[in-house]
Amino acid sequence: MKTILQLFASLLVAGALGTSAQAANFRTVVIDPGHGGQDHGGQWGQVYEKHLALDTATRLETNLKNLGYQTVMTRRSDYFITLPQRVYIGNSYKDAIFVCIHFNYTWKQDVSGLETYYYSSEGQRLAQFVQSSLVSRTHTIDRSAKFARFYVLRNSTLPAILVEGGFVSNESERDRMKSGGFREAIARGVAEGIQRYRRSF
Ligand SMILES: [Zn+2]
Repeated sequence: MKTILQLFASLLVAGALGTSAQAANFRTVVIDPGHGGQDHGGQWGQVYEKHLALDTATRLETNLKNLGYQTVMTRRSDYFITLPQRVYIGNSYKDAIFVCIHFNYTWKQDVSGLETYYYSSEGQRLAQFVQSSLVSRTHTIDRSAKFARFYVLRNSTLPAILVEGGFVSNESERDRMKSGGFREAIARGVAEGIQRYRRSF
């Protein structure tokens, strides 16, 4: 029993080292715009999360390319893609990180702000850099970096985060989201957070 536990502990250490060594050299960012096609995500009137996510993800791609990163998009237009497909695309890259872009929704219409989710410890570091850059770029409510067991985060072998760029269900936030300037501020904040994370090794 002791031997098995020791073996397990050494595997955990090896796994952790492998992850951070791999993350330290990343040159590619796999960008995953949430939802698409018949899956609208959060919706209020004519404002659909799937459209906001794709536009913001495309802006993020431009920002990252300007910083010298290689990028991969899990979808480039308005079509449906399953969660396992998204994870499969991300996991086929080695020196990469995985960044999902979403917008939030809740029945409590007064709730607003941005948050960034993670599952792994390396994901947590990435989420903290991204969340702080996001908040300073957008000057909005900081709902912090948080742990979550989302399928795409749990099953990713890369440092992975899921950004929630504000609440479609909140009137003032929804108004901001409709402007390209706000979506650009989110994209820029995420890109800056990724850059700060890259330089932290
Ligand atoms: Zn979503």
